[in-house]
Amino acid sequence: MARAFIGFGGNIGDTRQLITDAIVCLAQRCELQILVKSCFYQSAPVDAAGGDYINAVIEIETHLSPYGLLHVCQAVEQAFGRERPYMNAPRTLDLDILSFEGVSQNDTELTLPHPRIIERSFVLLPLLEIAPDFFLPNFGELKTYLPQVAHQRIEKLPCHNCNCIEKSVSSQTAH
Ligand code: AMP
Repeated sequence: MARAFIGFGGNIGDTRQLITDAIVCLAQRCELQILVKSCFYQSAPVDAAGGDYINAVIEIETHLSPYGLLHVCQAVEQAFGRERPYMNAPRTLDLDILSFEGVSQNDTELTLPHPRIIERSFVLLPLLEIAPDFFLPNFGELKTYLPQVAHQRIEKLPCHNCNCIEKSVSSQTAH
């Protein structure tokens, strides 16, 4: 079994619901198991059109090959109505394989780890939330890249699968 991380993003429609549904859709596949889900984040578009994005990252375990997982991700994108009218167009739902166990490859169909993993706050923050000590052989500890993306606007949204809400309520009552 291989461990992999998948990033989700979109900025058309109710993206939070779409990502939730896409994760349910993945969870129903017998070839993979979902191990951890991050909270949702709202981020400014980077090199892309449209309004703010909603993002999340999950960790999975799978006996699929990297390409097998890519095809599953693409099938989910299609199922949720993703269209690619032009490069970097607004998108209903985008799934990216961020890393796949120790695989390192530079194929245009599937580059691993994802080439922009260290350049985007919307990838780094949810990924480091669920894997704070994430390390990649050619990059080192991913948390060391946070200062480089600190200027990219991103906000963690309150969610039910962590204690964000309790934390914000207790910090408000503490003042
Ligand atoms: P995008 O429009 O950003 O979703 O890019 C989709 C294209 O990127 C597809 O043709 C994929 O085959 C390719 N691709 C390359 N590496 C990856 C990756 N790590 N995860 C998902 N898609 C990838």
